[in-house]
Amino acid sequence: MTFTKDPFFWRLVPYMDARPYLREGGGHFNPRDRLECVGMPAELRAEALAYRKPCPACGLPYNPIRERASGGSLYFACSHDLDTNKSCSRTKAAAQEAAIVGQAIRAYHAGRGTKALF
Ligand SMILES: [Zn+2]
Repeated sequence: MTFTKDPFFWRLVPYMDARPYLREGGGHFNPRDRLECVGMPAELRAEALAYRKPCPACGLPYNPIRERASGGSLYFACSHDLDTNKSCSRTKAAAQEAAIVGQAIRAYHAGRGTKALF
């Protein structure tokens, strides 16, 4: 199930931003967006960091909202990351989840994002 089917996603989406990711150095365009969480109120931020849902690749629970070690900014991870389970982040299921969540974020900020659409 995509995160966009989860009511919690729709509480986070006002604070989420999909930014095209340009790989450092090489300049190769990565088709996945960076899915950032920006300006979240403290209470929601704490709730988001504690939140767990099933990974689209393996089905095991994981924390989709992560805090970067440097700087403390938050981002959305579409599956388990490389540290936890090497295979998940490279699956088609993870790529599809990233694409759907990115689309939903863009649609929301364009005034077209509703739960019914995703
Ligand atoms: Zn996984």
